[in-house]
Amino acid sequence: MDSVGVAAAAPDAGPGPAWQSKCPWGAPNTTSISCSLADVMSEQLAKELQLEEENAAFPEVVAAAEGPFITGENIDTSSDLMLAQMLQMEFDREYDAQLRREEKKINGDSKVSISFENYRKVHPYDSDSSEDEVDWQDTRHDPYRADKPTTTPRRGFIGKGKDITTKHDEVVCGRKNTARMENFAPEFQVGDGIGMDLKLSNQVFNALKQHAYSEERRSARLHEKKEHSTAEKAVDPKTRLLLYKMVNSGMLETITGCISTGKESVVFHAYGGKSATEDKVIPPECAIKVFKTTLNEFKNRDKYIKDDYRFKDRFSKLNPRKIIRMWAEKEMHNLTRMQNAGIPCPQVVILKKHVLVMSFIGQDQVPAPKLKDVTLSNEDMKKAYYQVLDMMQQLYRECNLVHADLSEYNMLWHDGKVWLIDVSQSVEPTHPHGLEFLFRDCRNVSQFFQKGGVAEALNERELFNAVSGLNITADNEVDFQAEIEALEKMNEDHVQNHGKKLSTFSSDGDPPIYDE
Ligand code: ADP
Ligand code: MN
Repeated sequence: MDSVGVAAAAPDAGPGPAWQSKCPWGAPNTTSISCSLADVMSEQLAKELQLEEENAAFPEVVAAAEGPFITGENIDTSSDLMLAQMLQMEFDREYDAQLRREEKKINGDSKVSISFENYRKVHPYDSDSSEDEVDWQDTRHDPYRADKPTTTPRRGFIGKGKDITTKHDEVVCGRKNTARMENFAPEFQVGDGIGMDLKLSNQVFNALKQHAYSEERRSARLHEKKEHSTAEKAVDPKTRLLLYKMVNSGMLETITGCISTGKESVVFHAYGGKSATEDKVIPPECAIKVFKTTLNEFKNRDKYIKDDYRFKDRFSKLNPRKIIRMWAEKEMHNLTRMQNAGIPCPQVVILKKHVLVMSFIGQDQVPAPKLKDVTLSNEDMKKAYYQVLDMMQQLYRECNLVHADLSEYNMLWHDGKVWLIDVSQSVEPTHPHGLEFLFRDCRNVSQFFQKGGVAEALNERELFNAVSGLNITADNEVDFQAEIEALEKMNEDHVQNHGKKLSTFSSDGDPPIYDE
């Protein structure tokens, strides 16, 4: 990505000799993979500068008010960088598929096989993926993958090795698409590609077409000076590309817009698409939580993750970007635990870097209201209280978790019950501050329901004991807190001395049971 940015900004990145090569998308003759994205960028540099000027003069008109955020066709193609990346992504995919086909053809049944692995294009965008994350791309059927025997007709290809060109459908189709580009409005700059043997896949063609059409309407709209969409501004191009890929892969149908922009995350609504694997069903509506990639926002949350033994070893070795991914990962793991315990909460769909896709709590794009925003009948309020009490116990006992940010802000009212969300900061009770977090949760919950008129609501100390099974007897907050801290310290000392953590705290106020 950075290299792309550099390529775009390089002052000498004007149309150079690269354009004299036959194919503008690269497929160079040398084995060194020179990314043809630079070519794309240089071609578009002029337009980029022009757009920049335009954008400075007129705020970007954004789709949010007029339609969905990302549908796969309407992706914000006004960013040339993005467009170039999309094209590159398409190209790389097709190129690699072609390589695979060729490899297969050459190897046939031969006992000795050769590999073109080194000739594959690893897109710079993907090169920073870490091995420890789920790659949703792998779960999708790739229509270009040669899983059914491809019978290339006799003389159906020309050239050798990397420069091979087959008469495959996508090629023919790609040329057609390129030709159809001429139908775009005359002022729409399609570049020099038409003179060459440029092949555009349907998806890219559609994106370009959409872009051409919206460009036509654009001039009419520019003077309207609409507000910047939070959705557009909330995520960086890298994230937008990631979201685009999710739509492009068919996993998501449409990303309709932004539901919430918080300090640490942005949440989008999306309609689910089709899953490549039959065992996995994508919910009809999804929430996409994008963890913000500026570490500043997360600094004060260090303590949640640094001391979580599940992540401790990794924490010190990670760079800031990876730490943020860990928040998403943590939320995923915690949600899964909750799901397994039957606690109403979003169901994890997929995790990709710092983006977590889960089921949407709500309906028809309308998110379920937070408990703080909903007016419940006395009866429902009481029902909600007992449910929350139950869930806190389940969370502690069955999931071995403390929510650590539990309040009326992170509980949604949907389908006549309370749903827990926002668990990226949740920790295990043996976390060095786990019990303090639990106490804080209890305070929030008690206060909310007591104010809400639930006479039966336990006070924070009673609630704490009811959830944890501990029996702290202090009758005032200061002493209570002191006892909590003493317990935490005992646990820490034990960890120090024995290199072990406690499995859980015992249920009757005795010293905690050590897990030997
Ligand atoms: P933050 O850390 O920004 O508080 P949250 O996980 O609480 O992140 O999400 C912010 C808001 O987005 C929530 O208050 C809720 O309104 C909405 N939201 C988050 N996840 C979902 C979901 N799965 N379904 C519906 N709405 C959601
Ligand atoms: Mn929240």
